[in-house]
Amino acid sequence: LSDKLQSALGKLKSKGKLTEKDVKDAMREVKLALLEADVNFKVVKDFIKKVQERCVGQEVMESLTPAQHVIKIVNEELTSLMGDVQSKIMISSKPPTVIMMVGLQGAGKTTTSGKLGGYFKKQGKRPLLVACDVYRPAAIKQLQVVGEKLDIPVFNMGDKESPVNIAKAALSHAIKNNNDLVIIDTAGRLHIDETLMDELKSVKSEVKPHEILLVVDSMTGQDAVNVSESFNEALGIDGVVLTKLDGDTRGGAALSIRSVTKKPIKFIGMGEKLDDLEPFHPDRMASRILGMGDILSLIEKAQENIDIEKAKELEQKIKKQDLDLEDFLEQMEQIQNMGPLDKILGMMPGMGNIKDQLGDVDMNGKEIKRTKAIVQAMTIEERRNPSILNASRKKRVARGSGTSVQDVNRLLKQFNEMKKMMKMFTGSQKSMKKRGGFA
Ligand code: GDP
Ligand code: MG
Repeated sequence: LSDKLQSALGKLKSKGKLTEKDVKDAMREVKLALLEADVNFKVVKDFIKKVQERCVGQEVMESLTPAQHVIKIVNEELTSLMGDVQSKIMISSKPPTVIMMVGLQGAGKTTTSGKLGGYFKKQGKRPLLVACDVYRPAAIKQLQVVGEKLDIPVFNMGDKESPVNIAKAALSHAIKNNNDLVIIDTAGRLHIDETLMDELKSVKSEVKPHEILLVVDSMTGQDAVNVSESFNEALGIDGVVLTKLDGDTRGGAALSIRSVTKKPIKFIGMGEKLDDLEPFHPDRMASRILGMGDILSLIEKAQENIDIEKAKELEQKIKKQDLDLEDFLEQMEQIQNMGPLDKILGMMPGMGNIKDQLGDVDMNGKEIKRTKAIVQAMTIEERRNPSILNASRKKRVARGSGTSVQDVNRLLKQFNEMKKMMKMFTGSQKSMKKRGGFA
């Protein structure tokens, strides 16, 4: 989704003044990108209408940077689609605060119960996890393992009691033991059915939770939205936790849920580990969707665009220190495929200093074309061993490539810089690999 939106909006950037048609064309592409990302049709329609209305306003069309304006509007409307501000968990003034986790089987309720417990424990709360899934084999054990890892107590009464009784008993247990936060992990089914809803309703009326959090799997796209709607109608929910967002490249559910259910996404699950939980920030998510940079999308990009075989070859050459100008060219091309270099380095943690050292190495298309021309004007021998390029050879290369001797010199300087940089890269390669194979 991110790539598609970027390309749709990127086209606007190359224009000076925008016409109404430019905006319309861009919006058509944005619309397709959203639909492809499995965003609810009606949501898309309303969204496009709003953005378009705002974009053809005088302020935008007459501004000096209309494309920037349009991008800003898309960003704002995406943010507003997801609820504008961060929605927090309501903490009761009269402890314990009771949170009831609901959702379909496999959505991530048990994992998220633990994650939430850990999250609030770090904030000084004393959570109690409650095992109310008495159906799924080993569900109780699973919660106990989670609790152990986090050093959070888990209340259970085996699988013979009813969830209502367990929840009730857990509440008195919490009060006795000074637990100010009770997180109830309930059972799910593969599909929404009445038995499940009835049971959840009775737990709800018994313990009167402060928050009913629906856990949905973002990878299920539109289904996640439908599930949210059904749970909200039957049970009334206070918020949504969107799990497995680490595996969801389309991001459609995040965009639809709020506007379809009118209930906010409160947290997102970003992985299987117990600290992979983040409060949901609509603005950050919008930026992520618009591709304004986060490390995950960077890794995806790197994986898409870097030829692994070539990268491995290059790695060997770097190790043997016999990098030549042809490799330099190839590397420049690969980097160019990923997008503007300064942005990419900016997204990498700890790469800021390398970016500074790169100085004026400008990896835009023109530069690459010129580099290509210069390298191609060299003999094979010169490419392999640039040190033989003396003044007369440089003159010949400059003439052959339609550039100047200064251009040739600059290229050679950049090449040497890159050789130096590559030496540093080999040092930090292990950690890069762990992140996802940027060789
Ligand atoms: P429940 O049936 O709703 O209780 O779901 P579980 O908590 O047992 O989770 C089902 C599976 O989803 C488990 O394998 C979890 O590790 C996995 N899971 C849960 N949340 C996330 C997440 O945010 N990201 C990823 N990648 N996996 C998750
Ligand atoms: Mg479970």
